[in-house]
Amino acid sequence: MTPSADTRGSAALIRAEDSVLAHNYHPLPVVVARAEGVWVEDVEGRRYLDMLAGYSALNFGHRHPDLVAAAHRQLDRLTLTSRAFHNDRLASFAERLAALTRTDMVLPMNTGAEAVESGIKIARKWAYEVKGVPADRATIVVAADNFHGRTTTIVSFSTDATARAGFGPFTPGFRVVPYNDLAALEEAVDATTAAVLIEPIQGEAGVNIPDDGYLAGVRDLTRRAGCLFVADEIQSGLGRTGHTLAVDHESVAPDLVLLGKALGGGIVPVSAVVGRREVLEVLRPGEHGSTFGGNPLAAAVGTAVVELLETGGFQLRAAELGGVLREGLGGLVGRGVTGFRARGLWAGVDVDPEIGTGREIGERLLREGVLVKDTHGSTIRLAPPLTITEEELRGALATLEKVLTT
Ligand SMILES: *Cc1c(COP(=O)(O)O)cnc(C)c1O
Repeated sequence: MTPSADTRGSAALIRAEDSVLAHNYHPLPVVVARAEGVWVEDVEGRRYLDMLAGYSALNFGHRHPDLVAAAHRQLDRLTLTSRAFHNDRLASFAERLAALTRTDMVLPMNTGAEAVESGIKIARKWAYEVKGVPADRATIVVAADNFHGRTTTIVSFSTDATARAGFGPFTPGFRVVPYNDLAALEEAVDATTAAVLIEPIQGEAGVNIPDDGYLAGVRDLTRRAGCLFVADEIQSGLGRTGHTLAVDHESVAPDLVLLGKALGGGIVPVSAVVGRREVLEVLRPGEHGSTFGGNPLAAAVGTAVVELLETGGFQLRAAELGGVLREGLGGLVGRGVTGFRARGLWAGVDVDPEIGTGREIGERLLREGVLVKDTHGSTIRLAPPLTITEEELRGALATLEKVLTT
């Protein structure tokens, strides 16, 4: 079963992690040993409903049989070539991903942060080569409260003090405007602007959903200003919101879309920049790359993920169960919940600080067998696998009600 059995219990494993791992996370005190679908089991055999789903990396649940089968088949044939050679899995992955997202071209990478970094590099190169921005003067306009990853360039335009403090000097060339504010965006965009980079829904910030018309407004504004619209759909994309992409809510087509998390099916890290040929074409051999990007195992799993999304069934499910989620949370407003934002199977729930911090609510839910993650003080984020049943979802909502009202 396990490679070499570790017979320690939860408490000992947590102590061991604490002493040997860098302290860049503060996990809830549960040690997961196995999982299937929406359920995880800890080393003592206790079961929990996973209402976080790896921050949307597990949109199809743990170990979806189609994804595991695709990975197994590929493990037995070929796992890595590097892009020094071609592999027989990459073409169809890219073709099908481009078709699913109605784009022309694909740049495969591994982690979300790499997709964001790649998008930034492509936008800058496009600004110099196509738009004619003077060398090293390109700017990228981003939104306050963004979350795009953890590299030094990406934290350079974070507005979260904890994410930045101690990591300077920072990469220049970014302008921050308030989210959901088209007038501020209009003012920040000028002849040096390569791109506007935003999350169509800000996940880490607490599932901040912009007003209807904002995404279409960003599309219109960027087109008029002659700059690119880059949408970071790493968390919002691939079915989560009831659509393939969150920008589909307003039928908007960005120039570049950044994908990650669920693209790897919760099995391997797979990310990608997808977009218009005229933009992605600015990259030429030697200018950008990744040893693992586009590897055959990633491509095989990614293709199986795209296949799951091609039928539209998961998107429909997220939309339908999203109604159950909104209705359930609506019933808790004034009863421990001060407000919430939800789209599809994704919600940010503001808990009355009198009842507890988000962390404390997370710990109480854990004791009741439900896994969630807090964000920014008193907000908890719900993002269950899209495979959750209505009954399981209602069960999670009942547990939340119990924790908040008793
Ligand atoms: C998670 C996330 C990232 C970073 O992805 P990693 O795989 O953790 O590097 C970037 N953007 C958004 C919107 C995310 O949610």
